[in-house]
Amino acid sequence: MFDPSLIKNDFPIFQRHINGKPIVYLDSTASSLKPQVVIDANNTYYKEYPVNIFRGLYKLSEEATTAYELAREKVSQFIGSDSPNSIIFVRNATEAINLVAYSWGRINIGESDEIISTVMEHHANIVPWQQLSLESGAVIKYIDIDEDGLLNIDNLEKSITPHTKLVVLTYVSNVLGTINPVKEIVKRIKMKNSKIKVLIDAAQAVPHLSINIKDLGCDFLAFSGHKMLGPTGIGVLWAKYDLLDAMVPFQFGGEMIKEVYLDHSEFKKPPHKFEAGTPHIAGVIGLGAAVDYLSVLGMDKVRAHEKELTSYAISNLSHLSNLTIYGPKDPEKRGGVIAFNMKGLHPHDIAQILDEDNICIRSGHHCAMPLHTRLG
Ligand code: PMP
Repeated sequence: MFDPSLIKNDFPIFQRHINGKPIVYLDSTASSLKPQVVIDANNTYYKEYPVNIFRGLYKLSEEATTAYELAREKVSQFIGSDSPNSIIFVRNATEAINLVAYSWGRINIGESDEIISTVMEHHANIVPWQQLSLESGAVIKYIDIDEDGLLNIDNLEKSITPHTKLVVLTYVSNVLGTINPVKEIVKRIKMKNSKIKVLIDAAQAVPHLSINIKDLGCDFLAFSGHKMLGPTGIGVLWAKYDLLDAMVPFQFGGEMIKEVYLDHSEFKKPPHKFEAGTPHIAGVIGLGAAVDYLSVLGMDKVRAHEKELTSYAISNLSHLSNLTIYGPKDPEKRGGVIAFNMKGLHPHDIAQILDEDNICIRSGHHCAMPLHTRLG
């Protein structure tokens, strides 16, 4: 049963009161709260088998290794991946995108090449490509949005040329809430040229939508654990296995090697080729617990509840004459984040006033300065 009041009891933070008042948390886009099961999974690692993985032949190390690899399996199933070997554990969505920019981009993108992106991207999906463009000379083209904050997909398709090597876009905008029709977009890109690679920033999608990676048809998918009820410091890059196999490692050192000689080294196969050094073991195990928790709730129910809340909030906020809401009004086309502007009031003042009642909202540029500029 999907009962929000019971679900709320799973989150110990709500037992906290500040100045005698409860907490109203509306900043899940920045980071979600954590249920007790995730905290417990983290603690169980530190209490029961707080040792390194892969290295020890003793039971404790085997338990930690099993828990770590089981979490990979869970994440893989959660997004409908064919194999856990396509799941790379990184620090966050930002690191996942940087990994692709370094390990795939620096080999495959050159001076005459083009990258297509959109004006609604989070900085995490802009800056790594700008850096790649600075180094390689590749051109980045940005697809605009319409008045409702929707992408013009015809324009995206038209901007593809024989030089296009990569398309990078967000699944769900962390400002507009827009849910991009990723499956259709990928299909249209691949129909034009199946060699073009598509990277999806799913940081705001995996926590809110039921994802099936095979259905989406993209080549790379990046997301963060901390936005999907999991711990901070752990994120995921999913990529098609043959791409990962062909890519150079992102970082070099222990755990990612098969053999090391003084003059050269041989590397493991993916995913371990991309997980150099001791990973965030507790974080991975905690992420596995978050995936279990979301799976029991059911992502379809999560999405249905989110739509209901979003419709309720938009229809009530719409009564305020001095308030502009950004992004699509149709709850089918958007996620739960609602960015608004109140005429004559500075956003930081609004956030500070709400904080007096422990209402936590985000104010500022939302790590999407080009989009804010586009919106004026
Ligand atoms: N992409 C989007 C759409 C986001 O909303 C965020 C976080 N706000 C990120 C990427 C970056 O996530 P992280 O800071 O966990 O790397």
